[in-house]
Amino acid sequence: MSKRITVFFIALFCCALLACNAGQAVAADSTLYWGSRGDNVIKLQQTLNNWGYWCGDADGIFGSKTYSAVIKFQRNNGISTTGTVGPQTRKALGLSSATPVTGNSVSRSGGFSVIATAYCGCDKCNYPYGGLPAYNGQPLQYGVVAVDPSVIPMNSKLYIEGYGEGIAADQGNAIKGYHIDLFFPSHQQALSWGVKRVNVTIL
Ligand SMILES: [Zn+2]
Repeated sequence: MSKRITVFFIALFCCALLACNAGQAVAADSTLYWGSRGDNVIKLQQTLNNWGYWCGDADGIFGSKTYSAVIKFQRNNGISTTGTVGPQTRKALGLSSATPVTGNSVSRSGGFSVIATAYCGCDKCNYPYGGLPAYNGQPLQYGVVAVDPSVIPMNSKLYIEGYGEGIAADQGNAIKGYHIDLFFPSHQQALSWGVKRVNVTIL
C-alpha cells in the first residue's frame, strides 16, 4: 500500500517538473536549443517541416532530429551552424514577428501589382550564380527579393502580399519591369509558390 502511494507521489512530482519546463520555454522569441520544449518548439518544427527540413512530427521537444534540421537549414542559409535558434536563424526562417511567413489579405495603400516568381539558392534556380550571395552582397535568405532596379530601387524595404516583408537585394537577367523573384530557403518551397500576381508596397 505505502509503495503505491510513493509511486503516485513520484509520478506527481515528475508531472510538476515537466509542467515547469514547458512554462519556461513559452517565453516569446527566446533562443531555442537542444532540450527546449513548448509551443515555440512546435512552431519551429512546423516551420522547418514546411521549408522541407524534415524534423519529424512537431512534438514540441527539441531533440536530435530538430537539431539536425536546424544545422542543415543554417548551412544552406549561410548562418553559422550552431544548432541553436537565435534571432538570425529565427529571422531566416520567417519566425520573427517582424517578418511574417505568410502575408494576409491586408491591402496597404500605395502598392502596385507585380508578377512574382520564386527561387532558391540552387543551381537550377540561380544559374549561374548558385551558392553566391545576393546582388547587394547579403546572404540569400528568406526576405531577399530580386527586382528590376528601374522599377523598384535596390535595397528598398518591401511588403509583398502572401510573402511578408522583404528587401530588394537581388537582380536577375529575367527580372524585368513589374516582375519580382522571391527567395525561398528550399527548392520545394520555391516550386510551390509558382507564379503569382501579387501586390507590392515599398515601405
Ligand atoms: Zn532551387
